[in-house]
Amino acid sequence: MRHLIYITLCLFGLSATAQSTILINNVVIFNGKDEKTITGNVLVVNNLIQKISTAPIPTNKSGKTIIIDGKGKFLMPGLIDAHWHSILTASTMDELMYAEPGYVFIKAGDEAANTLMRGFTSVRDLGGPSFGLKKAIDDGVIDGPRIWPSGSIISQTSGHGDFRSVNERPVSLGGCLHHSEEIGGATIADGKDAVLVAVRENLKRGASQIKLTAGGGASSVFDPLDVSQYTEEELRAAVEAAEDWGTYVTVHAYTPRAVQKAIAAGVKCIDHGHLLDDETLKLIGEKGIWLSMQPLDSTTNAGANEEQKQKKYDIATGTERIYSSVKKYNLKLAWGTDLLFNPAANSKQTATIPLMDKWFTPFEVLRMITHDNGELLAFSGKRSPYREGKLGVLEEGAYADMILVDGNPLSNLKLMEDYNKNFVLIMKNGVVYKNTIQ
Ligand SMILES: [Zn+2]
Repeated sequence: MRHLIYITLCLFGLSATAQSTILINNVVIFNGKDEKTITGNVLVVNNLIQKISTAPIPTNKSGKTIIIDGKGKFLMPGLIDAHWHSILTASTMDELMYAEPGYVFIKAGDEAANTLMRGFTSVRDLGGPSFGLKKAIDDGVIDGPRIWPSGSIISQTSGHGDFRSVNERPVSLGGCLHHSEEIGGATIADGKDAVLVAVRENLKRGASQIKLTAGGGASSVFDPLDVSQYTEEELRAAVEAAEDWGTYVTVHAYTPRAVQKAIAAGVKCIDHGHLLDDETLKLIGEKGIWLSMQPLDSTTNAGANEEQKQKKYDIATGTERIYSSVKKYNLKLAWGTDLLFNPAANSKQTATIPLMDKWFTPFEVLRMITHDNGELLAFSGKRSPYREGKLGVLEEGAYADMILVDGNPLSNLKLMEDYNKNFVLIMKNGVVYKNTIQ
């Protein structure tokens, strides 16, 4: 695949850092926010969209503009996954725990290129040691999406981010750091002071938002789904530290108790929420809090025990209920996949998009995975690593992140599934990474 990308770049005479002007003619343009499309042309100068017009766009006389004939195909913003784990999804749990870290990170680099080739030009990384990967992508060392890193998952002892075995003692009781903590995948922090250190440590490394686990999870071993994690005081400490840095805290939480406590502590984004009741959904809607949901089903990863399987089943039931009540409570909804620990399943990342048309129109889904998710990325304020242009939209001044689709997903969302065949052009930051149209 990298060979193909290299050839593509050579054909265009581009490198990831070269100055360039690319004109994409004759495309049906979905701008990410309006259902009505226009047929026109898009001029990209360096990494930004400079002009979008239904009239022909003149090229400069020096003849250096690369012209791509879009052949009437469907141009849309690059996809955004609002709940991704760049490192944890590239390896199995066994590899993450027992393999050499170098192996794990090289696999993550390979997966980052695959993620981009699935049309994802941006991901919000909801936990894992992704800072180095992000830098390697930004520096042009490897191909991959833009990453909004959270850094380590901050968890209480016995919380969703506590990956220790039952016989490993916590550091505060004389134990050693667990491997997941040593590589920056998780930080176990109990008490306000430890939480403040954990948050500030991630911010120091460049976290664009902070992720805490506020309730039980499906893949973890010691915490039943119904439990709430962290006291309000601990959560509030994390919120204060994040807000002092101009950004926000999101919490992993499914239940009304966990979410209500997080909201009381000032948390501005909930990730998951599949088991919420009407009262809590209403509260989320009224307060304008982000709900970052995933259409999770009951599939479990290899090695899951009976309890983990049951937990996954309970969550899957909630997917149906929550998506059905989104409009009633006017929820600010983000979309993500949360794939992890099962690299073989990553090729299904876009396959979860058409599943959404059970609850939403294709337009609503396409807007969610581009414009709406882009707004959540921008919610990181000055801690967002990419602030030169807008994200998730095709408009003048926005980042030149886009995909060209063979067919119209506004009438057939299923087209998103076979990205290999149907995404004929992929551009990120003004660089063409795939072009099979001509
Ligand atoms: Zn996750």
